[in-house]
Amino acid sequence: MRFDSVIMVDWSGGNDRGKRPVKDAIWTCIAQAGQADAPIYHRNRQVAEAWITETLTTLQATGQRVLIAFDLCFAYPTGFATHLIGQEDTLGLWDWFAARVTDSPEANNRFDLAGEINARFPGIGPFWFNGLQRDIAHLPRKGSDRTDHGLPEKRAADLAIKGSFSPWQLAGAGAVGGQVIMGLPVLSRLRQTFCKDLSVWPFQPPDTQIVMAETYFSLLPDLVADDAHPIKDASQVTLYAKAFSALKPDDMARLLNIPATQEGWVLGAGEAEVLRAALRPTPPPLRNDCFAMPQGAHWTPVDDALDHLRDHLGPVTATETIPISQSAGRYLAEDLRALRDHPPAPNAAVDGYGFAGPAPDGPQTLPLLAGRAAAGQPYPHAVPPGHAIRILTGANLPTGIDTVVLQEDCSVTTTDVAFHGSLKQGANARAAGEDMQAGNVILTSGRKLTPGDLGTMAAVGVGQVTVRKLLRVGVLSTGDELREAGAQADVGHIYDANRPMLCALAAQWGYTVVDLGCAPDDRDTLRQILDDATARCDVILTSGGASAGDEDHMSALLQNAGALALWRIAVKPGRPLALGLWNDTPVFGLPGNPVAAMVCALIFANPALRLLAGGAWQLPTGFMVPAGFQKSKKEGRREYLRARIENGKAHVFPSEGSGRVSGLSWATGLVQLDDPAQKIELGDWVQFIPFGNFDL
Ligand code: AMP
Ligand code: MG
Repeated sequence: MRFDSVIMVDWSGGNDRGKRPVKDAIWTCIAQAGQADAPIYHRNRQVAEAWITETLTTLQATGQRVLIAFDLCFAYPTGFATHLIGQEDTLGLWDWFAARVTDSPEANNRFDLAGEINARFPGIGPFWFNGLQRDIAHLPRKGSDRTDHGLPEKRAADLAIKGSFSPWQLAGAGAVGGQVIMGLPVLSRLRQTFCKDLSVWPFQPPDTQIVMAETYFSLLPDLVADDAHPIKDASQVTLYAKAFSALKPDDMARLLNIPATQEGWVLGAGEAEVLRAALRPTPPPLRNDCFAMPQGAHWTPVDDALDHLRDHLGPVTATETIPISQSAGRYLAEDLRALRDHPPAPNAAVDGYGFAGPAPDGPQTLPLLAGRAAAGQPYPHAVPPGHAIRILTGANLPTGIDTVVLQEDCSVTTTDVAFHGSLKQGANARAAGEDMQAGNVILTSGRKLTPGDLGTMAAVGVGQVTVRKLLRVGVLSTGDELREAGAQADVGHIYDANRPMLCALAAQWGYTVVDLGCAPDDRDTLRQILDDATARCDVILTSGGASAGDEDHMSALLQNAGALALWRIAVKPGRPLALGLWNDTPVFGLPGNPVAAMVCALIFANPALRLLAGGAWQLPTGFMVPAGFQKSKKEGRREYLRARIENGKAHVFPSEGSGRVSGLSWATGLVQLDDPAQKIELGDWVQFIPFGNFDL
């Protein structure tokens, strides 16, 4: 079941709340396919009702299917309607209320009406909590005053939800009863206005253009909207609008598929997992023109090429929730919040004696209590002022204690502990939450989780984490001349050096490697291989055949598919990079020469794959070292030289030939020479980037 728009309404039973947006007012939010508009503040019910009517009218006219859900009980516990209007007819009950509730921004009759209703029931109740100064006949002030009214406290739907309130309670923190009385007439009028285009779930089948439902904004207590608003109600309508609008049609149909009862139901009750999953980002497909870079007569500078990749690529992998013990090296798919304070309680930072600080200058003697506080073995009593207690590192500070003196600084008898002041209040103690606080973001989306992160997450009670699925990287070599290392080869053959090299790179970057073998220089075969590969890879790295020559089939195929961009990048070593989409899967066509293939993989594929895998954009950092070589370099292109550090200087491989693969083994990193012409003399500072800084 699909809804084009979803509207969430946070209702309120109060009077006009003024011009400036505040909490506990009416807030609404519209979302479509997981994207929410800004939440809207309504100062009173009259304004809100007008807005809802107008918005639904507009959406109705555009033919949209709309779900509008209210954080408001749509019904009372079984038996109420029968007693009041003669039949168990909730929608009829709405009209009954509509005829009797009077409401204006300044005043309403909810307490009086509740008293009148109570008068029709035996005993005292069911409504309670007169929030007014004056007494109201039949409306008790206390819940416990009620007796023999004969109705259940809650509906089945309310019992299914933790922390829900009874609709009989009209006032007091968190009470919902007042809102319900003031909400049902509005619901009744909406039904009249939209007639057969509107149905009320689950009392009527949800097969109309507009479906109205009840929900509850504490179904996802641990979540807040990522664009959280300082006012909680605003944040909540946004979060739930996003979640319900992002539900897959099947899931929405399942949530709506419950038996019609006159007590109604809370949409999404018990379905937190589905809503949570709907809120997780699913990667949008890459745009067909993501590699289309404006090409002038000039070669593109490396930095422009990198900016283009940064701006046009995003995650292509879905998310999964896994135990933190399996999450090292994975990319975090959402901001992660602490589930509790760290440390959770004030505790001792050293072994010693706890007392209430501060201690003034000079010798101190405090009576020592029997017993002790140790980590995991709290001292169960309060410590009276002026007393000390034995305390060990990590032990929670007993009540009355805020300061610890080191045991090395004390002399102790069975009855007393003596030491020298002064000691500041809080010395040698750790405050609760001094490291991390519950609810705060501790790690951000796109981060590659480190062993340290696993410790951080565990410390605040996070046992499961939502990460990106591993990026599947296909590696393909192309060329009739290639043979597999170890196989027979004659002089017309060379061994395929790129594939083992690129597979190892992808593996060290933490991806799932799919070895696609070696393709001959034959267009049909290559097409077949690419088709197969796209079914099992998220991205494909190829080498060879990327230029525009007769045997450059990779670029020709991508060209014919209409999704090729030949990037002429001003970089040495390197030739054109062929970037394209094959069946929506990005293909990085690297140069055939192993040195160029390696350098282009490190410089371009590494940050690009990181983005595709769900990581944040990141470029390798280098450091400056004196040159142990001389070189003059042309204007207008970036050069990467295979280099190693010896005696504190950067030395470069004697040959710059890009077929000299042995230089990759000789080198421990790359010297990066920037685009302008340069003459480098011995001892000049140059930038060296160790291979390790390319995530290896
Ligand atoms: P291409 O880009 O196909 O014109 O190849 C450029 C150069 O790289 C040629 O000398 C190829 O033989 C060589 N080459 C291409 N692929 C590989 C590979 N997988 N291993 C080693 N050399 C290769
Ligand atoms: Mg070739």
